[in-house]
Amino acid sequence: MIKILVGAGLLILILVIILVIRTMRYTRHHGEKNRLLPEDFDIEEAAERLSEAIRFETISTQSSGDFNDDAFIKMHHFLEKAFPNIHRILKKEIVNDYSLLYTWPGKNPALKPAMFTCHIDVVPVEPGTEEDWKHPPFEGTISDGYIWGRGAMDVQGGVLAIMEAVEHLLEVEYKPERTIYLGFGHDEEIDGDMGAYAIGKLLEKRGVELEFLLDEGTPIVHNVLPDLPSPVALVAVAEKGYLSLELSTSSEGGHSSVPQGLTSIAILSEAIHKLENNPIKGRVDGLVKKTMEAIGPQLPFIYRIVMANLWLFRGLVKRELDRMPATKAAMRTTIATTIFESGIKENVLPTQARAIVNFRIHPNDTVESVKKHVIKSIGDPRVEIRELHGSINPSPVSDVEQPAYRLLRKTIKKVFPEVVVAPTLMIGATDARHYSSLTNNIYRFIPLRADESDLDRVHGTNERLSKHNYHEMIFFYTQLIRRAARSLEKHI
Ligand SMILES: [Zn+2]
Repeated sequence: MIKILVGAGLLILILVIILVIRTMRYTRHHGEKNRLLPEDFDIEEAAERLSEAIRFETISTQSSGDFNDDAFIKMHHFLEKAFPNIHRILKKEIVNDYSLLYTWPGKNPALKPAMFTCHIDVVPVEPGTEEDWKHPPFEGTISDGYIWGRGAMDVQGGVLAIMEAVEHLLEVEYKPERTIYLGFGHDEEIDGDMGAYAIGKLLEKRGVELEFLLDEGTPIVHNVLPDLPSPVALVAVAEKGYLSLELSTSSEGGHSSVPQGLTSIAILSEAIHKLENNPIKGRVDGLVKKTMEAIGPQLPFIYRIVMANLWLFRGLVKRELDRMPATKAAMRTTIATTIFESGIKENVLPTQARAIVNFRIHPNDTVESVKKHVIKSIGDPRVEIRELHGSINPSPVSDVEQPAYRLLRKTIKKVFPEVVVAPTLMIGATDARHYSSLTNNIYRFIPLRADESDLDRVHGTNERLSKHNYHEMIFFYTQLIRRAARSLEKHI
């Protein structure tokens, strides 16, 4: 008995030693010491320019009949007037009438170009919410230290910040060694098929291979975890794929007073019930693990024990992540039934039933593997399954060991020394997927500071950007372009 107790005690001791050693090795990263200070720059004038850009109602709507081409053309003219050096020195091309591609030729053709992208369209204001806005959504009011309006965050603020950065560099006669492209699509909010897709194809046809591409994407989030004091700059290095399946079934019709067997509604309901009760398994690995590895060292000791010892606590971590919808979605392919249609009259048995199920595909899965999962889960030949137009596999996961990622990480730390930089998975879709043939190094990040309430403003009410943050954004792009425009290896 004593022998067993001593043996168990020894085992526990060894386990504790392993846990402590692994936790100690899991040390905090220290912030960059020398924070860069913004160069001489008139932020008041820049804020005025952003305010003016917000006044153009470059709205993307699902129905092409509502497209306001005049707003896009006026926006182009405004950019010409507001950024004279860019329009004098860079080559400008208009793609599919409304998207913009600028080329800033570098001095050294041996270096692959870098590309910065955003989009000039915005989402509409939801009818009925206009009165809830503190300042009208398309007036670009500057008040209380903020620039207010639709697009301030998503993403006129991003487009204009990049333009301000380049204009500023041209003013100080900066010449890049590497060619820099700026690409601004005009239909990102409705899938980017005419804008970013066409820009991507145009560059592909010209044989362009990029060193890296930075699109808008995840922001710098504040106060997301109660025990994490530092803001986190999330850099999305992959994005989920997309699939919609139509499930349908037919059965005998007739009068509801003489039902025979199961109706279409019953058959289809059962199929959906089976599917939703058989979710695709989520895993604490790959990108989820990388995100945790970046954030973990900043957490209090007790959390670090868990994070540093995933081999032991993986199940616990998974359970915790499953409790929040956003982290739950980050770990797996999600399944959501979004449409269910059947029946025309209360006393008529329906002959048809139809449902649409939408999937956001995790990089661990593919369109094909998800379809197989659906067929197997439902296992009912009476249910017909049809893939709808628009499916896309998840993007490849960009390598965080590449010089381009290190450059991005380091530049973020220089401009925002208090933040933790963490790679992540983009749960929604961006224009970046349309550029995937140009480079493996695609990053989705916008240096926008946002807490939870700010995130609600994106596509919501009272969208706004603080002048202070806008200044930081412009400075960040200035720094990144300066550093990216020369050989990466030499300067990192
Ligand atoms: Zn956007």
